[in-house]
Amino acid sequence: MKRRKRGQTTISARKAVVRKPAGRKWWSDPNFRVGQGFDVHRLERGESVTLGGVRIACPYRIVAHSDGDVLIHALCDALLGAGGLGDIGRWFPDTDEKFRGADSRELLREVVGRLAQAGWQPVNVDLTLIAEVPRVAPHVERMRERLAKDLGLSPAAVNVKATTTEGLGFTGRKEGIAAQAIALVRHR
Ligand SMILES: [Zn+2]
Repeated sequence: MKRRKRGQTTISARKAVVRKPAGRKWWSDPNFRVGQGFDVHRLERGESVTLGGVRIACPYRIVAHSDGDVLIHALCDALLGAGGLGDIGRWFPDTDEKFRGADSRELLREVVGRLAQAGWQPVNVDLTLIAEVPRVAPHVERMRERLAKDLGLSPAAVNVKATTTEGLGFTGRKEGIAAQAIALVRHR
């Protein structure tokens, strides 16, 4: 038998195996689901953009059928994806005059309502804006508060972050703006 130095502990491979919780297998727990969303819109010269439900003054505007809030559109797609409910285009077609200039927060609340009808409620969401302009850091807290209200969550469960593409691609040339989102939902 090998002599063990003082303080040295050994764990046998068998003991190191994580115990599975009793009852339902955690890896197939149907109570949680995840979804992801992605959206892009064109930018052109203008006076302001609306992102995360917050209007930000800047020398650009977002070209879209609705208010063009890419962050919220990506979030809606993530939520609908998690609930297995398709995508934003299915519920709010951009050919429908009803949604011209629509406030995306209203669309978000509608998505949350449809999720609830299907038995799902958001747990947390994480959003990433991919854009050279505008600078959103000063507005992030307000976005979190507004989105949290629409989602029925605490702002702590709503993360908003932004990145540039270092001047590369359509976002780098300020021709467009993009967003990604991920959402976790649980069965009520
Ligand atoms: Zn969109």
